[in-house]
Amino acid sequence: MRFSRMGAVASAVVLTAALTACGSSTKNADKASSGGDTKGALIGVTMPTKSSERWISDGNNLKTQLEALGYKVDLQYAENDIPTQTQQLDNQITKGAKLLIIASIDGTAITTQLETAKSNKIPVIAYDRLIRNSPNVDYYATFDNAKVGVQQATSLLTGLKLLNADGSKGTAKGPFNVELFAGSPDDNNATFFFNGAMSVLKPYIDAGTIVVKSKQTDFKTVAILRWDPATAQKRMEDLLTSTYKSGAKVDGVLSPYDGLSIGILSALKSNGYGTAAQPYPVVTGQDAELASVKSIIAGEQYSTVYKDTRELAKTTVAMADAVLKGQTPQTNNTTDYNNGIKVVPSMLLQSVVVDKTNYKKVLVDGGYYTEAQLGS
Ligand code: BGC
Repeated sequence: MRFSRMGAVASAVVLTAALTACGSSTKNADKASSGGDTKGALIGVTMPTKSSERWISDGNNLKTQLEALGYKVDLQYAENDIPTQTQQLDNQITKGAKLLIIASIDGTAITTQLETAKSNKIPVIAYDRLIRNSPNVDYYATFDNAKVGVQQATSLLTGLKLLNADGSKGTAKGPFNVELFAGSPDDNNATFFFNGAMSVLKPYIDAGTIVVKSKQTDFKTVAILRWDPATAQKRMEDLLTSTYKSGAKVDGVLSPYDGLSIGILSALKSNGYGTAAQPYPVVTGQDAELASVKSIIAGEQYSTVYKDTRELAKTTVAMADAVLKGQTPQTNNTTDYNNGIKVVPSMLLQSVVVDKTNYKKVLVDGGYYTEAQLGS
């Protein structure tokens, strides 16, 4: 694992990171006290793309909540194009942004912008995705990404009935044919999701209960660049026409994101799945996007992992506000997110597995979607 817990060595790094974090807060405090009121300060928010609903919600939630505290917000989307995102960051710095909140496309591609931010004393919060290979990242707000992977794999096992809903051993024996997908290799989260999932699946693969018939089990081979649904669809089609051409059936697919799950399901559909005689395999997901929740209700996609973007925005806004006021924001993890240069103090939120049995309770009662939106 590239970014795993590192035991004793980590403690020293963590201490350094904590001191660095305090250092930057203290500098902010100096700035706030000499620069006066933070009210009306401009905050730059950069999001990767509007092609996935979750980032639209993230952006809107951040904007609304920051504006409610009296900040001005410059919110930008880059349609997954790295040069567009770097240009947006340059613009925000030129416009006098006092803090940047960044959900990066490629976590290693904005080093230059971060250097300029640093020399202009602009603090940086990595939003949902860790910014890598730069010392100039002050804080990180995200979900417990390794746990998301564990939840996806556990839900896959539940769907296959290898586990019961309460985590006890299920009635099924297997072996089951399962194919694996991972997210974009330039997104740090993708490795966390995949490693988290594999920590659950590996014993089943080793025991022969789960068979990855394509033999494609390493992250690089199964990763889908830019989380592109069409690329996932193509890979699933290729698997079906090569590995499964002699009639073997796919029983499960580990998919790390709802958009990919939609691509995967449509490849399956065009190859005869989704009928009473040949039902869809158990397909996982992430983000509880509207189309996928509908698909779960319709009995197509099996599950998703719900991450409440309202809560992530709330956490990030509290962080930004604290930093700008010269205070030290709340964090709950100073060990797991080493960005290659330092451990970034992080606030990790908890995600929830959603399937047909609990979507009403979690998503409707929780106010994320209305019954009307879900058409249920
Ligand atoms: C996010 C996921 C999302 C994926 C694709 C990841 O960085 O953590 O929630 O599914 O990007 O947008």
